[in-house]
Amino acid sequence: MNMYEIKSTHLLRKLMKDYFTGFEHAGKIAWCTSVGPAELLRSFGFEVYFPENHGALLGATRQAGDYISSTVNLGYSGDICSYLTSDIGAYLNKRTPLQDHYGMPGIPKPDLIVYNTNQCREVQDWFNYYAKEFQCPAIGIFPPRHVDEVTDAQIMDVSEQFKAMIPACEKASGQAFDIDHFRDTLRLSREATELWKDVLATAKNSPAPISFFDATIHMGPIVVLRGTQVAIDYYKTLWNELIENVRYKTGVVPVESSRIFWDGMPIWGKLRTLSNLFIQNNSVVVASTYCNSWVFDAFDERDPFVSSAKAYTEIFINRSENAKMNMLKQMADEFRIDGMIFHDAKTCFNNSNTRFGLPLRFYKEFGIPVLVIEGDLCDLRFYSEGQTTTKIETFIEQLESQKIVNEYHG
Ligand code: SF4
Repeated sequence: MNMYEIKSTHLLRKLMKDYFTGFEHAGKIAWCTSVGPAELLRSFGFEVYFPENHGALLGATRQAGDYISSTVNLGYSGDICSYLTSDIGAYLNKRTPLQDHYGMPGIPKPDLIVYNTNQCREVQDWFNYYAKEFQCPAIGIFPPRHVDEVTDAQIMDVSEQFKAMIPACEKASGQAFDIDHFRDTLRLSREATELWKDVLATAKNSPAPISFFDATIHMGPIVVLRGTQVAIDYYKTLWNELIENVRYKTGVVPVESSRIFWDGMPIWGKLRTLSNLFIQNNSVVVASTYCNSWVFDAFDERDPFVSSAKAYTEIFINRSENAKMNMLKQMADEFRIDGMIFHDAKTCFNNSNTRFGLPLRFYKEFGIPVLVIEGDLCDLRFYSEGQTTTKIETFIEQLESQKIVNEYHG
């Protein structure tokens, strides 16, 4: 087995531990969706907790399956978001991986709950459940969905929704709004997101020094710590390591038989297995829509409300098929992709682009081979290891033979 290792992982572990254990001494705590207005919340001095990150933790530690049935017993369908069902189920059972990993008594309690339906409506139901449980104020931001281009009028609408959050934030935090704090936090977030983009871009090189599976781990700080200097410092360290590896031509595999794009959610409980599967076949998943979702090019501290509204509304998941096709094609070109894998996550149709025929249309329009695999983000009952392994190995073989044919005719 290939022994390639990203050394910054040690630092990442420490930093994530500090982030979680920090909640024990935190002043005011806000809960936020993963692509929600974290910067505005931080500018009020809130420590920010992300339930989706907790859902991913339940998936990665393979505990999700222990808790989903408790939520189903409350009347929720087992077919809806398994972040939601596993997270609420863990709460009902008074369990969290944070107890085992960091000795924490439980999840942090919210003083304010904020969600943005730019990704899905599920977060509204999920977060409102907790608002009732904790008798805590909840605020939603409701941007237009599935748009081709995000218009100025739409951005102004979302920007006003951001501003309308201010009184509730002031009340819950006990701090008056300070535009300079907001600008500073947004600047820190912008710097971190630019560095995260640079980190992902190192995989444009061959051999790629970071795969999608590595990136799902290293994205922790850009999700939970954007808007802090800690995230900036971490991504500088990580980028320096990766760019050094590029210089020495050290990568995930020494010689890449194929370079693959992953669309859709990770299968959290199978990251290592899948990573090894690709490595064994000398193939690398070099880019993904998922990890790219935390690249917010629009952030601009000179116009903090409008630029936040723009950044959080124009994200991939919130766009029309036309926009998604163009974004996918652009990434496929930039990362020199040989084939695309689309993950059809059973409990997240919002982030599964397979249900309305996009993969086939993508193949017909751009000639890039596609493969659809079935699975789920957390609920492994929807995932068949044997079937998926066979499908992926066959796909990689096909890509290799296609390359040989192209080289022969080229
Ligand atoms: S986007 Fe999908 S995985 Fe994420 S919260 Fe919404 S339904 Fe769940």
